[in-house]
Amino acid sequence: METASPIRQLGDPVLRKSAVPVAKNDIGSKKISSAIKHMSAALRGTENGVAIAAPQMGISLRIFLVLERAYKPGHDDESPDEAEQKKAEREKEPVMVFINPKILRHSRAARLLEEGCLSVDGQFGKVRRYEKITVEALDERGKKFTRGASGLFAQVVQHEIDHLEGIIFVDKATDLHSITSSKK
Ligand SMILES: [Zn+2]
Repeated sequence: METASPIRQLGDPVLRKSAVPVAKNDIGSKKISSAIKHMSAALRGTENGVAIAAPQMGISLRIFLVLERAYKPGHDDESPDEAEQKKAEREKEPVMVFINPKILRHSRAARLLEEGCLSVDGQFGKVRRYEKITVEALDERGKKFTRGASGLFAQVVQHEIDHLEGIIFVDKATDLHSITSSKK
C-alpha cells in the first residue's frame, strides 16, 4: 500500500486560487517556517520532483522551493541505483526558497519543453517557456535576491510562478500524454 501523498492533485480548488503574498514581517515566523518545512519534506518525499509551490500543499501563499539539481549546473545528478541511496541523497540536497517571486525580465526566445507536475500524476505535455529569465524574490530570512535562470531552472521557475496564479501546466500544454509509472 502506498502512503498518501500530502500533495494536492488537479481538481483541488486550492490549486486554482491566486496565492497571497507573504507579509514581510511574517518571514521567519513559526507559521511560515513550518510551511517551508512541510513543503521541503513533501518535495524530498517525491521520487523525481524538483520543485514545489505552497498551493500544492494546500497553503495559498506565494512561496515555492527548488531542489539544487534544478538550479546548480553540474549538480551530481547520476541517479543512484539503490532506492534507499536515492532517498538519502534527496534528504540532504540543498533547496532554494522563493517568497513573493517576480519575473523582472525574460528573453524573447522561448522553447517548447516537456513538462510534468507533482499535482498532475502521470501526465506530461509540452509547454512554451522563456529560455532565460531574471527573477526577484525574498529568501527564507526575508532578504531580497535577484537570480538569472536559464534552461531547466528557468522552466521550473515559470512553472512554479504559474502555480501561484492558479495556473496548471495542463492549461497551456500541447501534446498531453499519460505515462503510467511502473512502480517496482
Ligand atoms: Zn507543478
